[in-house]
Amino acid sequence: MQDIKELGLKELEDKLQSLGLPKYHARQIFKWIYQKGALDFNNMSDLPAALRKKLAGEFYILGLELADLQRSSDGTTKFLFELKDKNLIEAVNIPAARRVTGCISSQVGCKFSCQFCASSLKGFKRNLTVGEILDEALYLKNNTQQAELTHIVFMGTGEPLDNYEDVLKSIRMINSPYAFNIGARRITISTSGIIPGIKKLAGEDLQIELSISLHAADDKTRSQLMPVNKRYPLEALIKCCHEYIAKTNRQITFEYILIKGVNSSLPSAQNLVKLLKDLRLAKVNLIPANPITALKIIPPSKAEIGAFKECLFKSGINVTLRQERGQDIQAACGQLRLRYENK
Ligand code: SF4
Repeated sequence: MQDIKELGLKELEDKLQSLGLPKYHARQIFKWIYQKGALDFNNMSDLPAALRKKLAGEFYILGLELADLQRSSDGTTKFLFELKDKNLIEAVNIPAARRVTGCISSQVGCKFSCQFCASSLKGFKRNLTVGEILDEALYLKNNTQQAELTHIVFMGTGEPLDNYEDVLKSIRMINSPYAFNIGARRITISTSGIIPGIKKLAGEDLQIELSISLHAADDKTRSQLMPVNKRYPLEALIKCCHEYIAKTNRQITFEYILIKGVNSSLPSAQNLVKLLKDLRLAKVNLIPANPITALKIIPPSKAEIGAFKECLFKSGINVTLRQERGQDIQAACGQLRLRYENK
């Protein structure tokens, strides 16, 4: 049995033709799965019964099962899924005014070992397939509470640019008017700073958003927080960002988690200003750390956060302060999976 979501529209049309079936049914099938949320071929009422039977013998639609769920008082819902090989992954639905953002994973575990993240504590297992990534998006779409799923961010477990081909193919499906039909500007890739991936992304014909986890403006601190910095240090990363902006004319958002005693002082803010001041189309998103007991991560005081933000703002940096969502349900990446696997 094949996961039907591994096939793009053209591939499904070709597959139907190879089975001796008219290719126009592919668009109907896409509509049923990605727009009407059908999880059973039998429910696709405008398809001939013989075709439904044939499809059910060739394909499955949803490959994951819900293993656990936590709902926060702020409406954020975190899902823990079990894949066919029993591996566990997490995805989160984050509602806000007139929008719902789905945060999805791209790998099982992670090899990049960022110090503030629980995702790599159990190491890296494997990449997710296109079908598995779309499983997450489909499940989130079918299980929003008040509004439609409007945005997708690759900010769950894993480094999306380390699973480039499957992530890009899934993004094309999320963006396709025949599938999820979510606008490219509502899809964000968040990377730890994989330079070859950013360069490749700059050449894609997709207007998606790029977000880079920065978290420090000097190599010593960043290498401690994010070992990937030893391979792709700040000077090379920022040079790559200049090239990306010149080529795409698109803004880059720099995520900066404020961690008490590590990167939240005024000199750290001044270093950040120096690093980014010449970068056209840059935005800094400050995020007070989500406390992770296992990793001894603590957010700074409100006064320290305010002073950091003020320093950036006064220096002309486009800066926002994001409140972590779902703090009461261990919504930071990897925490639910970790708790579940440690049971
Ligand atoms: S922040 Fe991202 S890249 Fe870093 S360990 Fe977590 S999942 Fe991996």
